[in-house]
Amino acid sequence: MSFADGVCPRCARRVEPITLVCDACHQVAGAPMGVVLGDSGRRLGQYLLDIVLFGATLGIGWIVWSVQAWRGGQTPAMRLMKLRVLHAATRRPARWRRMFVREFLIKMVVMAVVGAGSFWIGTVLLDSMLLWDRGRRQVWDEIADTIVVDTTGVPQYLLAAAWEPEVAAPIM
Ligand SMILES: [Zn+2]
Repeated sequence: MSFADGVCPRCARRVEPITLVCDACHQVAGAPMGVVLGDSGRRLGQYLLDIVLFGATLGIGWIVWSVQAWRGGQTPAMRLMKLRVLHAATRRPARWRRMFVREFLIKMVVMAVVGAGSFWIGTVLLDSMLLWDRGRRQVWDEIADTIVVDTTGVPQYLLAAAWEPEVAAPIM
């Protein structure tokens, strides 16, 4: 699944062969058919759901669940919503270490520092980056070299076939 011949294999529109994501149907190059860029609304929903899950499990449950989910490039809410973090360079699910950097080091630590230094204005600006970025990348996506995709509607066996062993990581 690539755009090497200059045509999107999903919607048949012309695309630049170097394009990461089809502008028309949002298919991600190098990912299984039907894996599209996650839209901003679902990303916001996932962000809020992760906060709710964090609170509902008193933090500890969410952290234990996250350590599992990170192995397949997901947060607990992403797992429920069929969103997934891919390493942009390979278009494969981010592994544990990249997720740790993205979710913990960058998102929590850096954002807390930026937020404290700018009375949270910087946080709001950085949190909105995906709205104007073509690849809908947040600052932590840029630093960790990741994109967030939506696999809703893509059969599990297709994902597993393309993304072993990432997807085969145990589900708690
Ligand atoms: Zn397309």
